[in-house]
Amino acid sequence: MTVREYGIWIGGEWVDKASKVERTSPAHGTLLARFSEGAEEDVDAAVAAARKAFDNRSIWSGLPGSERAKAISRWLDLIVRDTEKLAKIEAEEVGKPIRFGRGETEWAVELGRYAAALAYQIPGDLVNNIGDANLGLVTREPRGVIGMITPWNFPLVTLFQKLPFALAAGCTAVIKPSELTSGTTLEIAALAKEAGIPDGVINVVSGSGRTVGEALTGHPGVDMISFTGSTQVGKRIAQRCAEQMKRVGLELGGKAANIVFADADLDSAVDGVVFGYILNQGEECVQGTRLLVEEAIAEDFIKQLVDRSKKIRMGLPEDEQADVGALIHEQHMEKVLSYIKTGVDEGAKLEIGGGRLTDNGLGKGFYVAPTIFSGVTPEMTLFRDEIFGPVLAVTTFKSVEEAVALANDTKYGLGNGVWTKDIDKAIQVSRELKSGTVYVNTFLETSVQMPFGGFKESGVGRENGMDGLLEFTEVKSTFIKLGKRALALPHTV
Ligand code: NAD
Repeated sequence: MTVREYGIWIGGEWVDKASKVERTSPAHGTLLARFSEGAEEDVDAAVAAARKAFDNRSIWSGLPGSERAKAISRWLDLIVRDTEKLAKIEAEEVGKPIRFGRGETEWAVELGRYAAALAYQIPGDLVNNIGDANLGLVTREPRGVIGMITPWNFPLVTLFQKLPFALAAGCTAVIKPSELTSGTTLEIAALAKEAGIPDGVINVVSGSGRTVGEALTGHPGVDMISFTGSTQVGKRIAQRCAEQMKRVGLELGGKAANIVFADADLDSAVDGVVFGYILNQGEECVQGTRLLVEEAIAEDFIKQLVDRSKKIRMGLPEDEQADVGALIHEQHMEKVLSYIKTGVDEGAKLEIGGGRLTDNGLGKGFYVAPTIFSGVTPEMTLFRDEIFGPVLAVTTFKSVEEAVALANDTKYGLGNGVWTKDIDKAIQVSRELKSGTVYVNTFLETSVQMPFGGFKESGVGRENGMDGLLEFTEVKSTFIKLGKRALALPHTV
């Protein structure tokens, strides 16, 4: 297998660096790629390129929105052309099954198509009732150079919740992808050049958070940091951005709950809960990692979950039928396994799973079996911490009030699910839930028009939807004093 070699991408050119980050497959243990490791001076060069492309308004920021929309659309067409290649890179580097790599690429394109359309209609306002001698304009301007820092679990989708929206608004970008999964970000940057997006509009500096991430966050030439990743790193970024009053968007961790009432369509709920805890190996910010189930149906519901979980197919990235892949690296697998041990030690009941899987060709990978614990109480670690693995913690409740209190008993607030056939109950419970998204009788299903983001420690700001575009704009009020009328209007009877 050929090892993919990448430079960093600045001003529309590859820049090779002697220092490399090697990425080995989390499923096979073979070397997949060598990413150039950026340094502080590379961040300087990338910001300078992005600054130039932004400040010279004839390059990008001052073009008609329709021109930017067309350029973004040409770029998306090339991404569609290269779907298979991008899906393979995504699957190999993350460890997810190939069909999810394809799905992720397709969803990234869908986000991009919507964002491109928004470039036609960036909203503004006109204030026309402030006296005949005055006129007010309220306009939205692109924020400027956006530093984008992304995680490893959904490299393309987390990027496409930012990049096309920022481009549509007229911004330019310097991107720092995760050092573990930089391949697709570098590939799509080169495709942007092929599509005719001007040099300097998209720049990518791969490398570590400590060097590249810190340099980007502290750079005075960057107007905003748009970050997706852990709450811990998000807090550090927010503090550093505050020093320069830099704008910040933060998409952080989660601890979502699925609330299943006794009157739900239980068959669909079982499907939704299983999908919610195993998607992307559980490495998912809105993972349905907690199940709150009404006591009257709990025993039977858990039995059905266990039966359904036995049918989950674990597999290598190239396995077309696989449902669940490998965790991102050995250390993370050990962390997930230690959470499982803590669950047992703290007295939760292990219903299924609970260990590493090495049979059926998985021996070189970091595979953890889908794992369900029942009898989980709010003080247990399984209920509180973001585990980021295929682990479900089940807690029972007796009343609607108790269900809502349990769901909100977390520092996070990204998403929750509600399962009931009673629409009044669904809406009332949704109103009480402190999370940016609520799924009713489904889980993780959404549309590009709907904003996404967190309450509480799950983040600041919103991505997707019109809100996702507005995040990349500043509001300007222009108060215009008009001269004397050129023509006196005849006030004849
Ligand atoms: P992470 O916070 O460790 O890293 C995210 C990115 O930040 C990486 O590119 C990393 O190199 C960089 N980084 C690390 N230290 C930095 C620093 N000091 N300054 C600047 N950048 C730095 O997160 P991860 O382990 O890559 O991803 C998993 C986390 O991401 C989970 O907590 C998950 O919930 C979260 N996540 C959130 C969303 C969302 O939309 N809310 C989506 C996906 C993942």
